[in-house]
Amino acid sequence: MPRDNSEQPSTDATSVIEIRDLHKSYGALEVLKGVDLVAPRGHVVSLIGSSGSGKSTLLRCANLLEESQQGDIRFEGEPIKWKGHGLNRHPADRAQVTRIRTNLSMVFQQFNLWSHMTILQNVMEAPVTVLGRDKAEVEEKAREYLAKVGIGDKCDVWPAQLSGGQQQRAAIARALCMEPKALLFDEPTSALDPELEQEVVKVIKDLAAEGRTMIIVTHDMRMAHDVSDHVVFLHQGLIEEEGAPAELFGNPKSERLKQFLSHSQ
Ligand code: ADP
Ligand code: MG
Repeated sequence: MPRDNSEQPSTDATSVIEIRDLHKSYGALEVLKGVDLVAPRGHVVSLIGSSGSGKSTLLRCANLLEESQQGDIRFEGEPIKWKGHGLNRHPADRAQVTRIRTNLSMVFQQFNLWSHMTILQNVMEAPVTVLGRDKAEVEEKAREYLAKVGIGDKCDVWPAQLSGGQQQRAAIARALCMEPKALLFDEPTSALDPELEQEVVKVIKDLAAEGRTMIIVTHDMRMAHDVSDHVVFLHQGLIEEEGAPAELFGNPKSERLKQFLSHSQ
C-alpha cells in the first residue's frame, strides 16, 4: 500500500520536532529505512507497530540518544548540525544536543527512578543538576507536578514503596519538571497491570487536553485513538500508513495495518 502523503501533518517552524527521511542502521541491520515524523506544537502523535518495527529507535533518534546515518532532524525549525556523513555522521555541537535532549523529556516503560532517592528528590534531580535551576523553586514546581499526577502525598517515600502506576506517574512528574517542549513516551503503560495502566492513561489524557506536545509509542490502541491528533503505523522500519485516529483505526487501508489491529484488540 503506497503512502498517502496528503495525510501527513503540515510542517513549518511551529513543529517541535520534524524528522525527514531518517535512516538508522545497527551494523548491517537497517532498522529505519527512510522515516518522516512531525510533531506540530500542541499535537499528540502516536507511534504504533509490531515489536521490532523500529518505534523505540525512532524515539531515541528524535532526542539524539542514537545517531543516525542519513536524514534531517529539526528541533523547532533548527536543523541538527552534523559532522561527517553516512556511518561517520555525528552531531557537531554538544550544546545543541544537550539543549534538544533536555527539551524532549523521555518517559520509559520501566520508570527508571533512582531507588536511593525519595520521589521528590527524583523529580528535582535533573532540573537542579543538569539545568542548574534554583533548588527552592524546583522543589515548589516538583511538588506541583507530583500533585498534578495525583501523588502529591508521596513526596517523601522511596520508589519501592509505590505501585507501578504510582512510580510511572512519578516518572511523568519528573519529565514535566524539566519543563520540556515535548514529552516522548516509550510504551509508558506496558509494564503495568490493567487497573494500574488506567491511572497512567488518565494522566496522559489530561496532558493531551492541556495541549502538550507529545509523541507516544504505545500498544494501547484505545489510548492512541482517544488522545492522538495523528497516528503513525510503522512496519519493518517504514511508515506503512498514517492518519487521523478515527480514519486509521476506523478505516485502515493496508493489509498489514488491518492484520496488526486485528491482533491488538
Ligand atoms: P520496537 O521499539 O518497535 O519494538 P526497536 O526500535 O526497539 O523496535 O528495534 C528495532 C530493531 O532494531 C530490532 O530488530 C532490534 O533488535 C534492533 N535493535 C534495537 N536496538 C539495537 C541495538 N542497540 N543494537 C542492535 N540492534 C538493535
Ligand atoms: Mg520499543
